[in-house]
Amino acid sequence: MYLDSLPAWKNPQGTFVMGGDACHPMLPYLAQGANSSLEDGAALGFLLGKAKSKDRVRDALQMYEMIRKERGEEIGRETFRQRDTLHLPDGPAQEARDFILISQLGAIDIKPDFPSRWNCPKVQAWLFGYDTYREAREAWERNPF
Ligand SMILES: Cc1cc2nc3c(=O)[nH]c(=O)nc-3n(C[C@H](O)[C@H](O)[C@H](O)COP(=O)(O)OP(=O)(O)OC[C@H]3O[C@@H](n4cnc5c(N)ncnc54)[C@H](O)[C@@H]3O)c2cc1C
Repeated sequence: MYLDSLPAWKNPQGTFVMGGDACHPMLPYLAQGANSSLEDGAALGFLLGKAKSKDRVRDALQMYEMIRKERGEEIGRETFRQRDTLHLPDGPAQEARDFILISQLGAIDIKPDFPSRWNCPKVQAWLFGYDTYREAREAWERNPF
């Protein structure tokens, strides 16, 4: 469920690569472990499909790591923030959180930075508005190998 950020997700030779829990495990507070693993797989599949010879595989893995590492790790960090928010001890921070939660109960347009990331429009858009294939395609079009 937790791993410090790894220096790399692939080896320099381009013969080994990681995705999913192996390189960005996370807590279950956002139900994103499998989702982000699938994003990894989609990006990797797209980019490997662009490698037309064996020596281009390394370039594909490099691009995969470039587009996936930061997002995968950030989703992991977000699960820890969700845990912290949900498990605040009684006190001023908990009261401030509860004030926001209660004041927006039933609201249709919940404001960004809502304490529960299940409802926060900013986090929801970031998690579910993401298009892995578009990101991979645009990265490849900027720097085709
Ligand atoms: C109870 C629970 C609920 C969850 N709910 C959600 C959810 O709602 N939404 C969500 O997105 N995520 C959820 N997750 C997280 C999700 O299941 C994982 O993030 C996801 O399965 C990670 O996929 P993976 O392929 O990286 O790893 P894994 O699914 O762990 O796959 C790794 C595979 O490698 C195999 N393996 C290990 N060592 C070896 C070896 N030496 N040789 C060969 N094979 C090996 C293992 O047997 C396993 O099949 C949940 C997890 C749990 C435990």
